[in-house]
Amino acid sequence: KGNVSLVGLTKKYDSSLAVSDINLTIEAGQYCCLLGPSGCGKSTTLRMIAGHESVSSGQILLSGKDVTHLSPRQRGTAMMFQNYALFPHMTCLENVAYGLKVAGKNREDRTKAALDMLASVDMQDHQHKVPAHLSGGQQQRIALARALICQPDVILLDEPLSALDPFLRIQMRKELKQIQRQLGLTFIHVTHSQEEAFALADIAVVMKDGVIEQSGTPKSIFERP
Ligand code: ADP
Ligand code: ADP
Repeated sequence: KGNVSLVGLTKKYDSSLAVSDINLTIEAGQYCCLLGPSGCGKSTTLRMIAGHESVSSGQILLSGKDVTHLSPRQRGTAMMFQNYALFPHMTCLENVAYGLKVAGKNREDRTKAALDMLASVDMQDHQHKVPAHLSGGQQQRIALARALICQPDVILLDEPLSALDPFLRIQMRKELKQIQRQLGLTFIHVTHSQEEAFALADIAVVMKDGVIEQSGTPKSIFERP
């Protein structure tokens, strides 16, 4: 549960190949960083795994199941973005509970689950605030709580730290890693930062022009003589 396999994954836009025949296996509970220069296909790959982008050819297996043609909600994935994408008019509690509402849970159950989740990211004292009244780091925690509430097996993160100042970025990096370890979840994290990958990743995957150029432990990739 939580393992990811990409088999010959390919995405064609009209004239160009954004992602070209990618093969990759990520074990359950691993922290994978997807790296490479702008335009190399990182986000397209992540969006295909999330189900926000259709696949031109190939397969996506999550927890052993072929999800290539399933809707985002049927995949057991949750996405976290750079700008957090919190609903600005909702309180923290409502933001975190939102996924359960979509899933049809009653108010009492979703409030209880959301309060538990807020406590697990140490944000229970802020439940009635709207996102604009939180710091960047606090918004990040709410975004994480919101992603975790539907108990996904795989968390997909698209440059989640790049809007933070350098100090907060390093702090939130630690928190992400800690939560990932604690919950034993699979994380796939798109970043352009080698330093970030070094700090976070069990496995780093370097893309270039739509293909995988290198993959392995960050040490084996970045410390090669
Ligand atoms: P990265 O995340 O590594 O910066 P992307 O996955 O966003 O790269 O983009 C990979 C390639 O696909 C780029 O050449 C980009 O211009 C192209 N691309 C991305 N999205 C679209 C789209 N919706 N339509 C056409 N081309 C796209
Ligand atoms: P309740 O049944 O708990 O009163 P509502 O259906 O009124 O909830 O929605 C609660 C809030 O969530 C509302 O402010 C609504 O505008 C907002 N909301 C619902 N769906 C979305 C969505 N897809 N994007 C942004 N906000 C949404």
